[in-house]
Amino acid sequence: MRALVKARPEPGLWMERRPVPAIGPDDVLIRIRKTGICGTDIHIWNWDDWARGTVPVPLVTGHEFAGEIVEMGRDVEGLELGQRVSGEGHLIGRTSRQSRAGRFHLDPETRGIGVNVAGAFAEYLSLPAFNAVPLPDAVDDEIGAILDPLGNAVHTALSFDLVGEDVLITGAGPIGIMAAAVARHVGARHVVITDVNPDRLALAAEVADCVPVNVAQEDLRDTAARLKMRQGFDVGLEMSGNQAALDQMIEALVMGGRIAMLGIPPGKSPVDWSRIVFKAITLKGVYGREIFETWYKMLAMLENGLDIRRVITHRMRAAEFETGFAEMRAGHTGKVVLDWD
Ligand code: NAD
Ligand code: ZN
Repeated sequence: MRALVKARPEPGLWMERRPVPAIGPDDVLIRIRKTGICGTDIHIWNWDDWARGTVPVPLVTGHEFAGEIVEMGRDVEGLELGQRVSGEGHLIGRTSRQSRAGRFHLDPETRGIGVNVAGAFAEYLSLPAFNAVPLPDAVDDEIGAILDPLGNAVHTALSFDLVGEDVLITGAGPIGIMAAAVARHVGARHVVITDVNPDRLALAAEVADCVPVNVAQEDLRDTAARLKMRQGFDVGLEMSGNQAALDQMIEALVMGGRIAMLGIPPGKSPVDWSRIVFKAITLKGVYGREIFETWYKMLAMLENGLDIRRVITHRMRAAEFETGFAEMRAGHTGKVVLDWD
């Protein structure tokens, strides 16, 4: 099969021929139809410090996918050949306290497909049947291929009650933009999204009913005043990983405000902790998706009017992956989806 491989410990990815993966008794073999390129894949392409310390070489990359079950291990139940699926790319252990309590997304033994073990940028993927998530008819393959990042957005956005609340999202990357759509869908009052990249802010306004603010040019306080907020934002969703954005969020929040933090700062970054204390702010770190509650909720929302399709700005054949990665690295894109058919 064709697969996009981190074949050498240097920048780049390479399309290579690989054997179709073998499956065990509890696994399914998925013929991949569409995959999404993630920021994580860019780190792996760039071969930065994180990637060097994490990714074994050689490795088939990729973790955002949709496809069809073409083979099932002998112990697999509840799935069918030909079934369209996406799936959770975090492979969890069964021994930790968290796993045994059913809080699978908090399992410290988690390994990621396309990061620690063979991934989905390939014609075939072997996945534990436990991780497979059947797709309803309302969710086609290209949306199925971006459920992983939509799940990050949903997990973060649903961390706090947003009904009637004024929500600030920092970072209009694909995940921030999808979070804006989710916040609107579940009934937030004002949804304001910030970035310093005008292309991304324009895309945010196209995908979601939200107020884009370019914080390189505009003062967020003017926006809050224009929207007639008395004290500030009730809830913050940090989706940039940028130090200045977090500082700004802490300033812009009401007393007793809540922050869900998905963005990953590049290294240790200072926080004005006294502001957190005196404003009585609740801060929640968010990792991955809740397995499988986030999947359940996002599929339900997609079947009931949540529309995030326009966040996909680039569609191309898998053979054209170099273009897709280049566009993404240049910051010109929303989601880039590769077609493996
Ligand atoms: P992205 O890099 O595409 O988007 C981040 C955006 O933040 C960019 O558009 C950038 O221009 C913007 N930004 C930079 N400085 C800013 C500032 N001062 N104010 C506002 N915006 C600013 O990332 P993404 O793929 O959308 O992911 C969002 C974040 O979530 C990233 O940090 C990513 O690493 C992280 N992430 C975390 C998890 C997790 O499990 N915790 C999972 C996936 C992604
Ligand atoms: Zn991803």
